[in-house]
Amino acid sequence: MNTITLLEKLVAFPTVSSETNLPLVGFVQSYLEERGFSCRLIADDSGAKANLFASIGPGGDDGIILSGHTDVVPCAAQNWTSDPFRLIERNGKLFGRGAADMKGFLACMLTVADLASKSALSRPLHLAFSHDEEIGCVGVRRMLDDLMKRQFRAAFCIVGEPTSMRVVTGHKGKLAARATCFGMGGHSSCAPLYLNAIHIVTDVVSLLRQAQDEFATAGAQDDAYEVPYTTIHAGRIAGGVAVNVVASEATVDFEIRHLVADDPCRIVGDLGRRADVLAETLRPRFPQARVSIDIVNAYPGLDLANDAAAGLLAGLVDQPYVAKVSFGTEAGLFMERLAIPTLVLGPGSMEQGHKPDEFIEIAELERCDVFLKGVLERLIG
Ligand SMILES: [Zn+2]
Repeated sequence: MNTITLLEKLVAFPTVSSETNLPLVGFVQSYLEERGFSCRLIADDSGAKANLFASIGPGGDDGIILSGHTDVVPCAAQNWTSDPFRLIERNGKLFGRGAADMKGFLACMLTVADLASKSALSRPLHLAFSHDEEIGCVGVRRMLDDLMKRQFRAAFCIVGEPTSMRVVTGHKGKLAARATCFGMGGHSSCAPLYLNAIHIVTDVVSLLRQAQDEFATAGAQDDAYEVPYTTIHAGRIAGGVAVNVVASEATVDFEIRHLVADDPCRIVGDLGRRADVLAETLRPRFPQARVSIDIVNAYPGLDLANDAAAGLLAGLVDQPYVAKVSFGTEAGLFMERLAIPTLVLGPGSMEQGHKPDEFIEIAELERCDVFLKGVLERLIG
């Protein structure tokens, strides 16, 4: 099987994050075990999903990890020209859900795994396949916990998200949270006698915007990013039951996309204190006034020194390695949990990720195959 045939197989598993990934994992596991890899499955609590960690070669702390996620985003509400789960070629491009994000890299991982099985390795090659990346890097955490417990070490890790084969050394971290505002409900004909939670939530949104302005003008800056500072964004607001009822509860979902230099927990703590001050001013009249902020999900940012990346990849890539990307990946978690130098580098472009008619160019897969062959050569002799 070559990389394209492998990609065809992988795309045919409809591993949308809401669904099981076990059939795909089963296919990958038997492919790897046939080639002499030792495989370890790390299932989630439901038993419907699993991470797979596979190794080949001698033991040792100086191996290389190639890592990718097995899940894809949904395509149900999207207008596709062809069946998203059947890989189709048109003009040198392969169309299918996950072709770019990121089953293309998984297919290249399996191709290099086959080469590794026929090579005399002096250092180990590790392959990590995670689940539930698309819903906030959820699945990989358990695999990293497992590796931590086993005191696993490696020389470096490549997370193969689509970067058009550019070396990416940084991305922002993300923290998603919900602010729930509590007021006092009642009949709208006497609205001023009650405390409208929708009014509180709009005040909280003002606090978020004020904090955003402070980051933009006085916060940490990194010009490698299109937006060079930490951002706070309100994404969804909800509250109230009818126009003639004063709302007793309202929520705003917001996210913080932060530079590694900024601590997101501190930012949330600060927002919480400002929201408390806001609620306190209301409490003399309305003791129920309260704002509670809950963290929904978070993953750390990535910031690998460029010279460290250069050292790891010397001779393997000919392009400058200064890129930083706006999307998040599992790379920050590898760095944070395992302290393994990690960078992001993979075939295809995130321009195509998550969209209808997602595709990857065959030429990108070929470039990645050549690159991973070079990585493998580092592990031989
Ligand atoms: Zn991805």
